[in-house]
Amino acid sequence: MTRTISILGATGSVGSSTLDLLRRNRDDWEVVALTANSSVAELAALAREFNAQIAVVADESLLGDLTEALSGSGIEVAAGKRALCEAASHPTNVVVAAIVGCAGLAPTMAAIEQGCIVALANKEALVSAGEVMTAAVAKHGATLLPVDSEHNAIFQCLQGNDITDVSTITLTASGGPLRLWTPGQLAAATPAEAIAHPNWDMGDKISVDSATMFNKGLELIEAHHLFPVGLDRIRIVVHPQSVIHSMVEYRDGSTLAQLGPSDMRVPIASCLAWPQRMDTPCERLDLAAIGELSFFPPDEDRFPATRLAREAAQAGGGVPAVLNAANEIAVAAFLDGKIAFTKIAVTVEDMLTRGNPPAAPGCLDDVINLDAETRSHAAEILELA
Ligand code: NAD
Ligand code: MG
Repeated sequence: MTRTISILGATGSVGSSTLDLLRRNRDDWEVVALTANSSVAELAALAREFNAQIAVVADESLLGDLTEALSGSGIEVAAGKRALCEAASHPTNVVVAAIVGCAGLAPTMAAIEQGCIVALANKEALVSAGEVMTAAVAKHGATLLPVDSEHNAIFQCLQGNDITDVSTITLTASGGPLRLWTPGQLAAATPAEAIAHPNWDMGDKISVDSATMFNKGLELIEAHHLFPVGLDRIRIVVHPQSVIHSMVEYRDGSTLAQLGPSDMRVPIASCLAWPQRMDTPCERLDLAAIGELSFFPPDEDRFPATRLAREAAQAGGGVPAVLNAANEIAVAAFLDGKIAFTKIAVTVEDMLTRGNPPAAPGCLDDVINLDAETRSHAAEILELA
């Protein structure tokens, strides 16, 4: 039976991987909405290829360009933040939330509010909104399926088991491209060096997050919301080969792990087909060719991000939203060549230790306001204005 799907962030890395799977299974899917930030030509081409009902560009000034690019196609066109949310709330079986950053929060919440399956890649949204999002999922009867490879692995390892029998969850981390760099080398790392991830081909922001280990920090908070086993039971281990995507240890001493190639189409496929399985063209694991798997404890002196994230998660309330917003601003400044690589964690720590901790957000607007305030404050500190 044909199912309907919308993809928020269709032109990005996760969006493209999702569309690749749909392309191979055209008869199974009907595309409702596709969205992008500003890549009008790419969005228009995808909307035509997949015969989408709606195409939305976040940048309002590009409405004319998108309208022109889709003229004669019969595809509905819209622009702006509100239009993104409207597209996300258009009834569908599945919404893939693959916008990068807290910019994806409101559209993701709109998708949740329609009570459908939300395949969540946009970890920053869950980190920032925390309980506001998990409460909305419960209230609207939505099904949140994790696309993030580690969380997808954990989700798979939990199937058929009782979460109260879990003794620990271990998130694996590749350690990123700068894993073995000295503090002096890290201080001089360039954007090109930081985004050259050894195992995964991803958007720039998450690639920098992998290099700083903020990606694992955000994932720790993400796991804390998705899998309520208690923060102290969620561990991180560096595993440079990215073959084991994460593991769950049960109270009887059994550890279940999910293994696979470093290809996001595997976890995306697991969400698209859930609770069944579907074919993917992904390379299969050849363990004999890989030879060895290695594991190391994270070095929180050179990479303080996981410590900061754990502290933010422990503090709870609005603190993770501050961590995320400060990181987004610092990563953008680093990618613009305005600050050093090591200044990213310094900025986040600075923002976390300033003033009183923010009140716990009670609703979506509280989260959006806290995110905006933190961004402008962090930009001020970094003299980016
Ligand atoms: P990307 O930069 O490749 O793509 C981001 C998408 O979001 C694009 O379609 C872009 O047009 C859109 N976008 C960007 N800013 C926007 C804004 N302000 N408003 C509306 N749309 C906007 O990013 P990605 O690597 O695909 O990552 C997307 C999300 O998935 C991130 O949260 C990331 O952490 C998560 N994720 C990615 C991977 C991966 O392999 N790429 C793996 C796990 C999780
Ligand atoms: Mg991940």
